[in-house]
Amino acid sequence: MIRHLYVHVPFCARVCPYCAFHVHRGGVEEQRAFVMALRQEWRAARTEFALEPDTIYFGGGTPSLLSAELFAELAEELPKDRSWSEFTLEVNPATVTEEKARAWRAAGVNRISLGAQSFDPAMLELLGRQHGPRDVAETCDLLRTQGFDNINLDLMFALPGQSLAGWDATLAAALACRPDHVSAYALTYEEDTPFFEKRGLWRLEEELEIAMFERTRTALAAAGILPYEISNFASPGRESRHNLAYWRGTDYLGLGPSACSTIAGVRWRNVPNTPLYIERVTRGESVRQEHEALDAATRTRERIMFGLRMREGVARGDFGGADPQLARLAQDGLAIESAGRVFLTPRGQLVADSVAELFV
Ligand code: SF4
Repeated sequence: MIRHLYVHVPFCARVCPYCAFHVHRGGVEEQRAFVMALRQEWRAARTEFALEPDTIYFGGGTPSLLSAELFAELAEELPKDRSWSEFTLEVNPATVTEEKARAWRAAGVNRISLGAQSFDPAMLELLGRQHGPRDVAETCDLLRTQGFDNINLDLMFALPGQSLAGWDATLAAALACRPDHVSAYALTYEEDTPFFEKRGLWRLEEELEIAMFERTRTALAAAGILPYEISNFASPGRESRHNLAYWRGTDYLGLGPSACSTIAGVRWRNVPNTPLYIERVTRGESVRQEHEALDAATRTRERIMFGLRMREGVARGDFGGADPQLARLAQDGLAIESAGRVFLTPRGQLVADSVAELFV
């Protein structure tokens, strides 16, 4: 039984210079062909798997770029009994209209993830974003008027030239939008992006990045938005069930170009090329590639790496043969054990990436 479904919509109005996802600009004709192909892939998956999603996530890309009409067409593949508990749509503030918001609501979307990133006009410009700071607040108001009461804001810190005061101002502006959930990630310089070449010049001092991370935790906690994963914060009860499923190692199915799936110990990725994806689906051929069998050791390693990032921690028994690494973490004050589970200390959270490397 597959309980978690991801749909990748690969279109963006323009491609941000730091983004390493499979995204591109696409005209209406290509979007139409994509929706047809995706519906075909979805229908085929239903004959292959018992697909009863409790969580659905439309990401990308910019799913909110699709017209209300195309979105409604795609939504026809959703289970008719609407038994999901969470249906998230990634939304770019520059793409929202009342008509679209109504179509999303009618289809059963009940959670919006808004790519705010920053409230500083200079930072938004540098990131190549199309929206301005005011657009985010206005979009939140519009969405609430249309009945959405579960809104996430995506934010980015450690941006080139960003000061601590600048990040404080972004946090304050974000909180003024009354989000239910915040995802705050430090900028990463991904290979094959224009930003990658600038990393030497642009990367902030580690201490400044750590200070920004600490400010994030403090400001959000003061507003009742609490961390449940190192980079994810929610009002009680507003944690993302879909993301929790990923981090807990639960099976999920991904549809669309470049989407990953993990089912019954096998992981694969759909072909990361939209025209090829459309062509293959239309011809009834498989779009899956890069199959990887996940052995027990890999699954355990992933459970430890993701679990340590989460508030719920990792069962002590999961560490098995990794006892020496665990002892080292405890000795360095980076992890603690309590009631049979292991957690990162606040200091450990600041260096979570290096901690994860101990288990690779
Ligand atoms: S809007 Fe999001 S998905 Fe699209 S290019 Fe920018 S960062 Fe990537």
